[in-house]
Amino acid sequence: MPVSWSNWSGSLQFEPQEIRSPATEEELAELVRRAAHDGRCVRVVGSGHSSTPLVQTPHTLVSLEKLRGLESFEASGREATIRAGTTLKEANSALLEVGLAVHNLGDVDFQTVAGVVGTGTHGTGRTLPIIPDVLTGVRLVDGSGEIREFRAEDDPDFFRAARVCLGALGIFTSLRMRMLPAYQLRRREWCTHVEDCLENLDRLMNENRNCDFYWYPRSDLVKIRTLNIPGQGSADLPFARCIQDITGWMGDVLPKQRELRFDEMEYWLPAEAGPECFRKVRRRVKETHRRDVAWRVLYRSVAADDAYLSGAHGRDTVTISLHQNAGLPFDDYFNDIEPLFRHYGGRPHWGKKHTLKAKDLMRLYPKWEDFRAVRRRLDPDGTFLNPYLRRIFGDGG
Ligand SMILES: Cc1cc2nc3c(=O)[nH]c(=O)nc-3n(C[C@H](O)[C@H](O)[C@H](O)COP(=O)(O)OP(=O)(O)OC[C@H]3O[C@@H](n4cnc5c(N)ncnc54)[C@H](O)[C@@H]3O)c2cc1C
Repeated sequence: MPVSWSNWSGSLQFEPQEIRSPATEEELAELVRRAAHDGRCVRVVGSGHSSTPLVQTPHTLVSLEKLRGLESFEASGREATIRAGTTLKEANSALLEVGLAVHNLGDVDFQTVAGVVGTGTHGTGRTLPIIPDVLTGVRLVDGSGEIREFRAEDDPDFFRAARVCLGALGIFTSLRMRMLPAYQLRRREWCTHVEDCLENLDRLMNENRNCDFYWYPRSDLVKIRTLNIPGQGSADLPFARCIQDITGWMGDVLPKQRELRFDEMEYWLPAEAGPECFRKVRRRVKETHRRDVAWRVLYRSVAADDAYLSGAHGRDTVTISLHQNAGLPFDDYFNDIEPLFRHYGGRPHWGKKHTLKAKDLMRLYPKWEDFRAVRRRLDPDGTFLNPYLRRIFGDGG
């Protein structure tokens, strides 16, 4: 009997025939083998924090909630292997216990490690690439139900595809990642007028390990966040008031708790276009949407990488994101601003709202065909292709 499923914000709902949570890799492989044999579509879900129909399937939705935890680590080699269903929060505390940490985090830590690889989750920091940039090994179940292992040193082409994979290459069961020795960060938050922030933006982004800002459309104020290894980063900001100053382990001070649910559109823009694009977004929001939109606009930076479907593929990047409270209409607002992002060559975040179709998406990624080739290698019959991914990749399986 169909069961209902909903994502974190509630904006994506569907009824798969079944939701399965295999307890072992072998059980997962058997499930995929049967689905492949019967021509049924299997999609894997992490914490359900994406709001595009990536995980939607009429047939089998798989959760790896029973495959969690730190599998192994090598503190000297600074690598760790983490089971795919582990949340970032769980991974951070297990890693801290053995003296390791990831290089960056996004805004929250509820996502699973595999889900982060699914859409190329990023934090902020001019020198810091997307979180899955550090992926060096993968175990997965492919589209025929075979368990396979990949190492970055043997198959770099696979890894350039796997680092942002949309769950289209296979179901990862564990992921090996490069780590840093555990580190502390000093997090400071500053309040100022948006013009003061923009005037100093380049310096702020250069001086601080992590730096971003939220702009509040109704007051025209911003909250700037800087995070640094203690003793490093900007000195006091003469143009802003410091409203928070805490120091702690990276996993404790980087992410925030988010009780209030929202929907979001985020675009990845060439770094040099970021400030001009933001100014246009600000003008448009003030002219047209200020009455309806109380939520802030978030501005971050990400270093370039070489993952085929990464938003930061081949270019240093600025991301700008729009938010609207879950349950309130977001279409008019998001759809009105989206052309501004596209004007600057923006690429949409794979896990957040956008309206782009296959023909638009393929033009944005120079290595689109390389990704498709790896996808066909791992899942030639399209067991993992739902209608949404079939439309995007133009593959009938
Ligand atoms: C409150 C909130 C804050 C956020 N903050 C940020 C942020 O700071 N930066 C940012 O970039 N994004 C952010 N996001 C987006 C979020 O990081 C991504 O949508 C992420 O992919 C969600 O992870 P998940 O575990 O929920 O995966 P899901 O959303 O469940 O799945 C995402 C993709 O991963 C695939 N996948 C999941 N598990 C596996 C597996 N085992 N093997 C293969 N593929 C798999 C799925 O099939 C799907 O394609 C945020 C979202 C929310 C709701």
